[in-house]
Amino acid sequence: MNLKELLDTTFNCECGRSHKVPIKSLVYAEDALERLPKVLESLVDGRRVLIVADQRTWVIVGERTRQVLEQTGWSVHHIIVPDTNHGSPVCDDTTHDWLNGRLPPIDIALAVGCGVINDLTKWSAFEHDLPYAVIATAATMNGFTAANVAPAIKGVKTIIPAKPPLAVFAVPSIIVNAPFELTAAGLGDTIAKPLSTADWLLNHIFHGEYFCRYCSKIINDLETYYFDRPEDIRSRQPAAIEALFNALLYSGIAMTIVGTSAPASGGEHLLSHTLDMMSGIDGAAHDLHGRQVGLGAIFSAAIYERIFQTEIPICHPFPSDIDSTFWGSLAENVRQQYEQKKPMLKTMCEKLTDGKTWRVFLAAAQDQVRSPHEIKNCLKTAGAAHTFADIGCSHKRLLAAVLHMHEIRRRPTIIDLAWVLGILPGAADEIIDCWLTT
Ligand SMILES: [Zn+2]
Ligand SMILES: [Zn+2]
Repeated sequence: MNLKELLDTTFNCECGRSHKVPIKSLVYAEDALERLPKVLESLVDGRRVLIVADQRTWVIVGERTRQVLEQTGWSVHHIIVPDTNHGSPVCDDTTHDWLNGRLPPIDIALAVGCGVINDLTKWSAFEHDLPYAVIATAATMNGFTAANVAPAIKGVKTIIPAKPPLAVFAVPSIIVNAPFELTAAGLGDTIAKPLSTADWLLNHIFHGEYFCRYCSKIINDLETYYFDRPEDIRSRQPAAIEALFNALLYSGIAMTIVGTSAPASGGEHLLSHTLDMMSGIDGAAHDLHGRQVGLGAIFSAAIYERIFQTEIPICHPFPSDIDSTFWGSLAENVRQQYEQKKPMLKTMCEKLTDGKTWRVFLAAAQDQVRSPHEIKNCLKTAGAAHTFADIGCSHKRLLAAVLHMHEIRRRPTIIDLAWVLGILPGAADEIIDCWLTT
């Protein structure tokens, strides 16, 4: 599959839908910034651009981009999103309102950065019906090419539909030399994708959710890009980092194609979202998305391993409500999500008694999911986070997160199935001891 051929196409898929990839251009080249004005000119009529950066990305790329654009006749505004008291900016409703209040009249917005800056820019551009493009500064997450944004709204991690960028630019030497923890986080986010796809299959098989095999094939084919030589990621081999970057871009494109986050965000992502939300409640620091997702992927794979050993599934009563003491001020918002999921958990229980559905699911998921050992080994060899200490979290805090993470999202995941089968809560402690401690 030549992924570049997917750009700027619309095609009829075997899944019965017509898929559209609105991203027109990917430029991964040392002279990407010099080529940027010409590419932007081909995308929009006007010559007014807004660069959105944070303090670090402004210094690394933003300032130079401004010069290049001004020299070629563009009128350039720039906004530097300030750091919070805890460090880098966050993508939430407050920062979004702050940025929206400062948007000048422009023809295109240009994000310079990674997850937060990209999401903030994409979100504001979408609301103002403006096109946007991004200059990626690290191979750290797959949201560059995704259609949606994942902000915290009133403290709850939410997914909001938006539009993907018209173009993605990156300078290889900047991506390769980005702080290593960012690159390792990119690996954590990517390694999780086949698990997300398995969770998507779960909803397809149990709830008749739409599923696109072509899209899942894109995700699975990407594994060879990053799984085989984790030591090359550790030693920052340019080819390995480029492969990882491509895997991130194309997993984002897979999300864009199907129009949901299902192919790229399953139960393993809930661990990261929950840790972020816990930080929102108690102010303790959290780690990068992809580093937390890497642990989530190991946890999720360990849950799958136990599920694969279940020959005859027996339905246990699933939690009837969320833990409102744990969620504090976020309880109502969390409850709203969980309440929407309960009818689907009931259906799951009913279908579990039907041996055929169970066998179909096991076969499909076994085909899709690697062992926790393989995932941990890849992350460890690459120098990515794989223990709770790596993400600056205690055993107790991680345990609290894994026992509450099923409550935050209305779409069922493998974590819900583990509760329904009675694997959770009991196995949580054992899995943390066995897989996430050393
Ligand atoms: Zn992710
Ligand atoms: Zn399809």
